[in-house]
Amino acid sequence: MTTVHNNIKTFKRNGRPYIIAGPCSAETEEQVLTAARTIAKNSHVDLFRAGIWKPRTRPDSFEGVGEKGLKWLKKVQSETGLPVTVEVANAKHVELALAAGVDVLWIGARTTVSPFAVQEIADALRGTNIPVLVKNPINPDLGLWMGALERISKAGIETLGAIHRGFSTLGGEYRNTPHWEIPIKLKTQLPDLPVITDPSHITGNRYKILDVAQKSLDLEFDGLMIETHPTPDQAWSDAAQQVTPLQLHEILSLIQIRKKSGTSTEFNTRLEELRSEIDELDAEILKKLAKRMNVVKEIGEYKRDNHVTILQLERWKEILDTRIPFGEKSGLSTEFTETFLDLIHEASIKLQTEILNQLPKTK
Ligand code: PEP
Ligand code: MN
Repeated sequence: MTTVHNNIKTFKRNGRPYIIAGPCSAETEEQVLTAARTIAKNSHVDLFRAGIWKPRTRPDSFEGVGEKGLKWLKKVQSETGLPVTVEVANAKHVELALAAGVDVLWIGARTTVSPFAVQEIADALRGTNIPVLVKNPINPDLGLWMGALERISKAGIETLGAIHRGFSTLGGEYRNTPHWEIPIKLKTQLPDLPVITDPSHITGNRYKILDVAQKSLDLEFDGLMIETHPTPDQAWSDAAQQVTPLQLHEILSLIQIRKKSGTSTEFNTRLEELRSEIDELDAEILKKLAKRMNVVKEIGEYKRDNHVTILQLERWKEILDTRIPFGEKSGLSTEFTETFLDLIHEASIKLQTEILNQLPKTK
Protein backbone atom coordinates (compact mmCIF):
# COMPACT_ATOMS: atom_id res chain seq x y z
CA MET A 1 0.00 0.00 0.00
CA THR A 2 1.27 3.40 -0.82
CA THR A 3 0.87 6.44 1.32
CA VAL A 4 1.04 8.83 -1.60
CA HIS A 5 -1.91 11.18 -1.69
CA ASN A 6 -2.25 13.59 -4.45
CA ASN A 7 -4.28 16.37 -5.74
CA ILE A 8 -3.76 16.30 -9.44
CA LYS A 9 -5.56 19.51 -10.28
CA THR A 10 -2.38 21.54 -10.47
CA PHE A 11 -0.77 19.21 -12.94
CA LYS A 12 -3.55 18.14 -15.27
CA ARG A 13 -5.28 20.57 -17.54
CA ASN A 14 -8.46 19.44 -19.33
CA GLY A 15 -6.99 16.68 -21.37
CA ARG A 16 -4.14 18.87 -22.55
CA PRO A 17 -0.63 17.79 -21.58
CA TYR A 18 0.99 19.80 -18.79
CA ILE A 19 4.02 21.53 -20.30
CA ILE A 20 7.17 22.53 -18.44
CA ALA A 21 9.85 24.38 -20.40
CA GLY A 22 12.92 26.46 -19.71
CA PRO A 23 16.68 26.12 -19.76
CA CYS A 24 18.61 23.29 -18.17
CA SER A 25 20.43 25.92 -16.10
CA ALA A 26 19.90 29.55 -15.30
CA GLU A 27 23.09 31.17 -16.65
CA THR A 28 22.54 34.92 -16.69
CA GLU A 29 19.60 37.17 -15.94
CA GLU A 30 19.32 38.01 -19.60
CA GLN A 31 19.34 34.37 -20.71
CA VAL A 32 16.65 33.43 -18.18
CA LEU A 33 14.39 36.36 -19.06
CA THR A 34 14.85 35.96 -22.82
CA ALA A 35 13.99 32.28 -22.51
CA ALA A 36 10.90 32.98 -20.40
CA ARG A 37 9.63 35.84 -22.57
CA THR A 38 9.97 33.96 -25.86
CA ILE A 39 8.55 30.76 -24.42
CA ALA A 40 5.55 32.61 -22.96
CA LYS A 41 4.97 34.46 -26.22
CA ASN A 42 5.13 31.43 -28.51
CA SER A 43 3.77 28.46 -26.63
CA HIS A 44 1.18 27.42 -24.15
CA VAL A 45 3.46 26.51 -21.27
CA ASP A 46 2.30 25.80 -17.71
CA LEU A 47 5.52 26.05 -15.76
CA PHE A 48 8.95 27.61 -16.34
CA ARG A 49 11.99 25.59 -15.27
CA ALA A 50 15.62 26.60 -14.69
CA GLY A 51 18.18 24.77 -12.57
CA ILE A 52 20.18 27.02 -10.27
CA TRP A 53 21.88 24.28 -8.24
CA LYS A 54 23.13 21.78 -10.79
CA PRO A 55 24.12 18.24 -9.84
CA ARG A 56 26.97 17.57 -12.25
CA THR A 57 28.70 14.26 -12.67
CA ARG A 58 32.23 15.73 -12.58
CA PRO A 59 33.34 18.48 -10.17
CA ASP A 60 34.84 20.96 -12.58
CA SER A 61 31.68 21.50 -14.63
CA PHE A 62 29.36 24.46 -14.19
CA GLU A 63 27.42 23.77 -11.00
CA GLY A 64 24.76 26.44 -11.27
CA VAL A 65 24.57 30.12 -10.42
CA GLY A 66 23.07 29.41 -7.01
CA GLU A 67 20.92 31.71 -4.94
CA LYS A 68 21.17 34.76 -7.19
CA GLY A 69 19.19 32.87 -9.84
CA LEU A 70 16.15 33.02 -7.55
CA LYS A 71 15.87 36.78 -8.19
CA TRP A 72 15.80 36.18 -11.92
CA LEU A 73 13.01 33.66 -11.46
CA LYS A 74 11.02 36.20 -9.47
CA LYS A 75 11.29 38.51 -12.48
CA VAL A 76 10.04 35.70 -14.72
CA GLN A 77 6.98 35.35 -12.48
CA SER A 78 6.19 39.05 -12.43
CA GLU A 79 6.95 39.79 -16.10
CA THR A 80 5.43 36.77 -17.79
CA GLY A 81 2.97 35.46 -15.21
CA LEU A 82 4.50 32.01 -15.59
CA PRO A 83 4.92 29.98 -12.39
CA VAL A 84 8.48 28.74 -11.88
CA THR A 85 10.20 25.59 -10.67
CA VAL A 86 13.76 24.79 -9.53
CA GLU A 87 15.56 21.63 -8.54
CA VAL A 88 16.25 21.19 -4.83
CA ALA A 89 18.74 18.72 -3.44
CA ASN A 90 18.96 19.59 0.23
CA ALA A 91 17.18 21.42 3.08
CA LYS A 92 18.98 24.71 2.39
CA HIS A 93 17.78 24.73 -1.23
CA VAL A 94 14.22 24.12 -0.04
CA GLU A 95 14.43 26.92 2.47
CA LEU A 96 15.82 29.42 -0.06
CA ALA A 97 13.38 28.42 -2.81
CA LEU A 98 10.41 28.70 -0.46
CA ALA A 99 11.56 32.09 0.79
CA ALA A 100 11.90 33.29 -2.80
CA GLY A 101 8.33 32.28 -3.65
CA VAL A 102 9.18 29.53 -6.15
CA ASP A 103 5.91 27.85 -7.18
CA VAL A 104 6.89 24.20 -7.60
CA LEU A 105 9.97 22.22 -6.55
CA TRP A 106 11.50 19.28 -8.32
CA ILE A 107 13.80 16.59 -7.03
CA GLY A 108 16.46 15.44 -9.50
CA ALA A 109 17.41 11.92 -10.53
CA ARG A 110 20.68 11.96 -8.59
CA THR A 111 18.84 12.93 -5.41
CA THR A 112 15.97 10.43 -5.72
CA VAL A 113 18.54 7.62 -5.43
CA SER A 114 19.40 8.71 -1.89
CA PRO A 115 16.79 8.10 0.83
CA PHE A 116 18.83 10.29 3.24
CA ALA A 117 18.77 13.24 0.87
CA VAL A 118 15.08 12.79 0.06
CA GLN A 119 14.22 12.53 3.77
CA GLU A 120 16.16 15.73 4.46
CA ILE A 121 14.13 17.49 1.75
CA ALA A 122 10.88 15.98 3.07
CA ASP A 123 11.66 17.24 6.58
CA ALA A 124 12.38 20.71 5.25
CA LEU A 125 9.03 20.66 3.44
CA ARG A 126 6.97 19.76 6.50
CA GLY A 127 4.36 22.39 7.23
CA THR A 128 4.35 23.77 3.68
CA ASN A 129 2.18 22.68 0.82
CA ILE A 130 4.27 23.50 -2.22
CA PRO A 131 3.75 21.10 -5.16
CA VAL A 132 6.68 18.71 -5.70
CA LEU A 133 7.76 16.76 -8.76
CA VAL A 134 9.98 13.74 -8.22
CA LYS A 135 12.23 12.57 -11.03
CA ASN A 136 12.96 8.86 -11.34
CA PRO A 137 16.26 7.71 -9.82
CA ILE A 138 19.11 7.28 -12.30
CA ASN A 139 19.01 3.50 -11.79
CA PRO A 140 15.95 1.52 -12.93
CA ASP A 141 14.49 0.97 -9.46
CA LEU A 142 10.77 1.57 -9.10
CA GLY A 143 10.99 1.06 -5.33
CA LEU A 144 13.34 4.02 -4.88
CA TRP A 145 11.08 6.23 -6.98
CA MET A 146 7.99 5.21 -5.00
CA GLY A 147 9.92 5.55 -1.76
CA ALA A 148 10.85 9.14 -2.56
CA LEU A 149 7.23 9.99 -3.43
CA GLU A 150 6.11 8.39 -0.18
CA ARG A 151 8.62 10.37 1.90
CA ILE A 152 7.42 13.66 0.39
CA SER A 153 3.79 12.65 0.75
CA LYS A 154 4.29 11.67 4.41
CA ALA A 155 5.71 15.14 5.05
CA GLY A 156 2.26 16.46 4.20
CA ILE A 157 2.77 17.52 0.59
CA GLU A 158 -0.48 16.86 -1.25
CA THR A 159 0.30 17.96 -4.76
CA LEU A 160 2.74 15.49 -6.16
CA GLY A 161 3.85 14.47 -9.60
CA ALA A 162 6.53 12.23 -11.06
CA ILE A 163 8.93 12.95 -13.89
CA HIS A 164 10.17 10.15 -16.09
CA ARG A 165 13.66 11.10 -17.37
CA GLY A 166 14.98 7.68 -18.32
CA PHE A 167 17.63 5.53 -16.64
CA SER A 168 21.40 5.54 -16.84
CA THR A 169 22.80 3.32 -19.52
CA LEU A 170 26.05 2.24 -21.12
CA GLY A 171 25.63 3.39 -24.69
CA GLY A 172 22.56 2.77 -26.82
CA GLU A 173 20.02 4.78 -28.72
CA TYR A 174 19.42 7.37 -25.99
CA ARG A 175 21.33 9.20 -23.28
CA ASN A 176 19.07 7.53 -20.71
CA THR A 177 17.11 4.39 -21.57
CA PRO A 178 13.38 5.04 -21.15
CA HIS A 179 12.42 1.57 -19.79
CA TRP A 180 8.79 2.62 -20.32
CA GLU A 181 7.65 -0.38 -18.31
CA ILE A 182 8.86 1.30 -15.10
CA PRO A 183 6.78 4.52 -15.28
CA ILE A 184 3.91 2.37 -16.57
CA LYS A 185 4.18 0.26 -13.41
CA LEU A 186 4.27 3.46 -11.37
CA LYS A 187 1.05 4.58 -13.06
CA THR A 188 -0.51 1.21 -12.41
CA GLN A 189 0.32 1.45 -8.72
CA LEU A 190 -0.62 5.13 -8.37
CA PRO A 191 -3.27 5.73 -11.04
CA ASP A 192 -3.97 9.32 -9.98
CA LEU A 193 -0.36 10.45 -9.86
CA PRO A 194 0.51 12.63 -12.84
CA VAL A 195 3.58 11.36 -14.65
CA ILE A 196 5.40 13.85 -16.85
CA THR A 197 7.98 12.76 -19.42
CA ASP A 198 11.31 14.55 -19.84
CA PRO A 199 12.30 13.69 -23.41
CA SER A 200 15.29 16.05 -23.19
CA HIS A 201 17.15 13.96 -20.61
CA ILE A 202 15.92 10.68 -22.10
CA THR A 203 17.24 11.43 -25.58
CA GLY A 204 20.16 13.75 -24.91
CA ASN A 205 19.54 14.89 -28.48
CA ARG A 206 17.17 17.66 -29.58
CA TYR A 207 16.33 15.88 -32.85
CA LYS A 208 14.89 12.87 -31.05
CA ILE A 209 12.65 14.81 -28.66
CA LEU A 210 9.54 14.88 -30.84
CA ASP A 211 9.39 11.09 -31.23
CA VAL A 212 9.82 10.40 -27.53
CA ALA A 213 7.33 13.14 -26.61
CA GLN A 214 4.78 11.65 -29.00
CA LYS A 215 5.33 8.18 -27.63
CA SER A 216 4.87 9.44 -24.09
CA LEU A 217 1.55 11.08 -24.93
CA ASP A 218 0.42 7.99 -26.81
CA LEU A 219 1.11 6.06 -23.63
CA GLU A 220 -1.10 8.60 -21.86
CA PHE A 221 1.53 10.24 -19.75
CA ASP A 222 0.36 13.57 -18.44
CA GLY A 223 2.82 16.11 -19.68
CA LEU A 224 6.28 17.01 -20.92
CA MET A 225 9.34 18.75 -19.54
CA ILE A 226 11.40 20.10 -22.44
CA GLU A 227 14.67 21.98 -21.89
CA THR A 228 14.46 25.23 -23.85
CA HIS A 229 17.27 27.76 -24.23
CA PRO A 230 17.52 30.95 -26.33
CA THR A 231 20.84 29.75 -27.86
CA PRO A 232 21.08 26.02 -27.09
CA ASP A 233 24.46 25.45 -28.69
CA GLN A 234 25.99 27.96 -26.30
CA ALA A 235 24.31 26.44 -23.22
CA TRP A 236 26.51 25.92 -20.17
CA SER A 237 24.99 22.48 -19.56
CA ASP A 238 23.18 19.90 -21.70
CA ALA A 239 23.68 21.86 -24.95
CA ALA A 240 22.91 19.00 -27.36
CA GLN A 241 19.45 18.32 -25.97
CA GLN A 242 18.10 21.84 -25.60
CA VAL A 243 15.79 23.43 -28.16
CA THR A 244 15.04 27.07 -28.96
CA PRO A 245 11.67 28.52 -27.97
CA LEU A 246 10.68 28.33 -31.65
CA GLN A 247 11.66 24.69 -31.87
CA LEU A 248 9.62 24.10 -28.71
CA HIS A 249 6.66 25.71 -30.41
CA GLU A 250 7.18 23.50 -33.44
CA ILE A 251 7.44 20.32 -31.35
CA LEU A 252 4.29 21.21 -29.43
CA SER A 253 2.37 21.91 -32.60
CA LEU A 254 3.51 18.71 -34.31
CA ILE A 255 2.52 16.52 -31.41
CA GLN A 256 -0.72 14.64 -31.99
CA ILE A 257 -3.04 14.51 -29.04
CA ARG A 258 -4.83 11.29 -29.82
CA LYS A 259 -8.25 10.53 -28.45
CA LYS A 260 -8.36 8.23 -25.51
CA SER A 261 -10.73 5.35 -25.21
CA GLY A 262 -10.94 2.79 -22.43
CA THR A 263 -9.91 -0.12 -24.59
CA SER A 264 -7.16 1.75 -26.37
CA THR A 265 -5.51 2.78 -23.10
CA GLU A 266 -5.50 -0.75 -21.88
CA PHE A 267 -4.45 -2.03 -25.27
CA ASN A 268 -1.59 0.46 -25.65
CA THR A 269 -0.33 -0.08 -22.14
CA ARG A 270 -0.34 -3.85 -22.49
CA LEU A 271 1.22 -3.71 -25.93
CA GLU A 272 3.96 -1.45 -24.61
CA GLU A 273 4.63 -3.76 -21.69
CA LEU A 274 4.94 -6.71 -24.04
CA ARG A 275 7.18 -4.81 -26.43
CA SER A 276 9.42 -3.72 -23.59
CA GLU A 277 9.70 -7.37 -22.62
CA ILE A 278 10.68 -8.26 -26.19
CA ASP A 279 13.24 -5.44 -26.25
CA GLU A 280 14.84 -6.72 -23.09
CA LEU A 281 14.83 -10.33 -24.25
CA ASP A 282 16.38 -9.38 -27.59
CA ALA A 283 19.12 -7.48 -25.80
CA GLU A 284 19.76 -10.53 -23.58
CA ILE A 285 19.84 -12.89 -26.57
CA LEU A 286 22.29 -10.68 -28.45
CA LYS A 287 24.51 -10.26 -25.41
CA LYS A 288 24.57 -14.03 -24.90
CA LEU A 289 25.34 -14.62 -28.57
CA ALA A 290 28.24 -12.18 -28.39
CA LYS A 291 29.48 -13.97 -25.28
CA ARG A 292 29.20 -17.31 -27.06
CA MET A 293 31.19 -15.91 -29.98
CA ASN A 294 33.95 -14.89 -27.59
CA VAL A 295 34.16 -18.45 -26.28
CA VAL A 296 34.25 -19.73 -29.87
CA LYS A 297 37.16 -17.38 -30.48
CA GLU A 298 39.01 -18.69 -27.46
CA ILE A 299 38.47 -22.26 -28.62
CA GLY A 300 39.76 -21.27 -32.06
CA GLU A 301 42.95 -19.88 -30.57
CA TYR A 302 43.36 -22.94 -28.41
CA LYS A 303 42.91 -25.26 -31.40
CA ARG A 304 45.33 -23.19 -33.44
CA ASP A 305 48.00 -23.31 -30.75
CA ASN A 306 47.51 -27.06 -30.37
CA HIS A 307 47.22 -27.85 -34.10
CA VAL A 308 43.69 -29.30 -33.99
CA THR A 309 41.07 -29.14 -36.80
CA ILE A 310 38.15 -26.73 -36.72
CA LEU A 311 35.15 -28.92 -37.37
CA GLN A 312 34.95 -31.84 -35.06
CA LEU A 313 31.95 -33.79 -36.32
CA GLU A 314 31.31 -35.58 -33.08
CA ARG A 315 31.02 -32.35 -31.16
CA TRP A 316 28.66 -30.87 -33.76
CA LYS A 317 26.48 -33.98 -33.65
CA GLU A 318 26.39 -33.78 -29.86
CA ILE A 319 25.24 -30.15 -30.05
CA LEU A 320 22.37 -31.02 -32.42
CA ASP A 321 21.37 -34.10 -30.44
CA THR A 322 21.08 -32.19 -27.18
CA ARG A 323 19.82 -28.75 -28.33
CA ILE A 324 17.02 -29.93 -30.63
CA PRO A 325 15.19 -31.99 -27.96
CA PHE A 326 15.87 -29.19 -25.44
CA GLY A 327 14.27 -26.69 -27.84
CA GLU A 328 11.35 -29.03 -28.45
CA LYS A 329 10.70 -29.33 -24.75
CA SER A 330 10.59 -25.53 -24.55
CA GLY A 331 8.11 -25.31 -27.42
CA LEU A 332 10.52 -24.59 -30.31
CA SER A 333 10.23 -26.64 -33.49
CA THR A 334 13.10 -28.86 -34.69
CA GLU A 335 13.26 -26.80 -37.84
CA PHE A 336 13.63 -23.53 -35.91
CA THR A 337 16.36 -24.83 -33.58
CA GLU A 338 18.26 -26.44 -36.45
CA THR A 339 18.17 -23.30 -38.59
CA PHE A 340 19.24 -21.18 -35.64
CA LEU A 341 22.11 -23.51 -34.73
CA ASP A 342 23.24 -23.72 -38.37
CA LEU A 343 23.45 -19.96 -38.50
CA ILE A 344 25.61 -19.61 -35.41
CA HIS A 345 27.67 -22.65 -36.35
CA GLU A 346 28.44 -21.16 -39.73
CA ALA A 347 29.58 -17.91 -38.13
CA SER A 348 31.68 -19.84 -35.61
CA ILE A 349 33.44 -21.83 -38.31
CA LYS A 350 34.15 -18.65 -40.23
CA LEU A 351 35.67 -17.03 -37.16
CA GLN A 352 37.77 -20.08 -36.28
CA THR A 353 39.00 -20.40 -39.85
CA GLU A 354 40.29 -16.86 -39.69
CA ILE A 355 42.01 -17.64 -36.40
CA LEU A 356 43.55 -20.89 -37.62
CA ASN A 357 45.02 -19.09 -40.58
CA GLN A 358 46.92 -16.83 -38.22
CA LEU A 359 50.28 -17.95 -36.97
CA PRO A 360 50.27 -19.85 -33.66
CA LYS A 361 51.46 -18.04 -30.55
CA THR A 362 55.15 -18.45 -29.95
CA LYS A 363 56.22 -18.96 -26.41
C1 PEP B 1 17.75 18.67 -15.09
O1 PEP B 1 16.52 18.57 -15.15
O2 PEP B 1 18.41 19.57 -15.59
C2 PEP B 1 18.49 17.58 -14.43
C3 PEP B 1 19.64 17.76 -13.80
O3 PEP B 1 17.89 16.42 -14.64
P1 PEP B 1 18.09 14.94 -14.06
O4 PEP B 1 17.96 15.06 -12.58
O5 PEP B 1 16.95 14.24 -14.70
O6 PEP B 1 19.42 14.46 -14.54
MN1 MN C 1 19.61 19.31 -17.92
